Amino acid sequence: QPVTTDMATLMHEVKKFASDKKVEIEMLKVREEYRREFLGNVSHELKTPLFTVQGYLSTLLDGAMSDKTVRKKYLERAEKGVERLIHIVQDLDMISKLEVGDLNLDLTDFDIVKLIQEVFDLLEIEASKKDILLLFDMRYNKPIMVRADAEKIEQVVINLVMNSIKYGKDKGSTEVSVESLTDKKIIVRINDNGVGIEKQHVPRLFERFYRVDQSGSRDAGGSGLGLSIVKHIIEAHGEKIYVESQYGKGSEFSFTLEKAFA
Ligand code: ADP
Repeated sequence: QPVTTDMATLMHEVKKFASDKKVEIEMLKVREEYRREFLGNVSHELKTPLFTVQGYLSTLLDGAMSDKTVRKKYLERAEKGVERLIHIVQDLDMISKLEVGDLNLDLTDFDIVKLIQEVFDLLEIEASKKDILLLFDMRYNKPIMVRADAEKIEQVVINLVMNSIKYGKDKGSTEVSVESLTDKKIIVRINDNGVGIEKQHVPRLFERFYRVDQSGSRDAGGSGLGLSIVKHIIEAHGEKIYVESQYGKGSEFSFTLEKAFA
């Protein structure tokens, strides 16, 4: 399924059989196909918000401008569309860097508990819009030092907590915990009691542009790139990411990290 398989997996498959020129040509074709699909996906993603913005602006120019309340409403909607475009472009920027392996990890020792609390502060307002509680397992409310790229891991935690809010139910909760897994590893879990994910979608969630076709997904302003970014970052660290979900009940995303040994 070249439409959705990511480049690295695809090239790996093809390389296994790379013994002659013919195969080299095949590899070029695969790469070309990949590029075409990527561009196709990108323009498709950009079209919707662009047309939305254009729609509101032309309606304003066609006369809606004179009504003060309509004017404000339409300008706000146009602004939302632009915000969405910015978000998509930022995600695309990130994914293209990640997919060509152009990702320099800046490894340092830092406290993962503090990082999670900072992400909570950042997303508190977003969560409160849906009356969602952000909880941290207090048992581990002491520093837990890990060795990783702090900025990239912050992106991972933001994307996962943000998803738990986007796909969470009103008045629900998101609970994050950190646990020691082995001598060398810890595991971070992000648990929600939201809409959950039907079984058949689970294996494809981390593909870029893949979205479960559920109401709200698009409104939530996602690009379908969030989880793909998360997976790339975790795998660049040589770590693992897991998902468990029960449709209608909730989901748990978890990932491992290396403990810091100072
Ligand atoms: P999006 O930008 O659409 O949120 P993601 O890559 O972050 O893209 O997620 C892909 C899809 O996985 C989403 O469209 C959503 O359907 C599903 N998903 C992700 N996180 C959750 C969650 N916590 N609960 C339910 N569904 C989720």
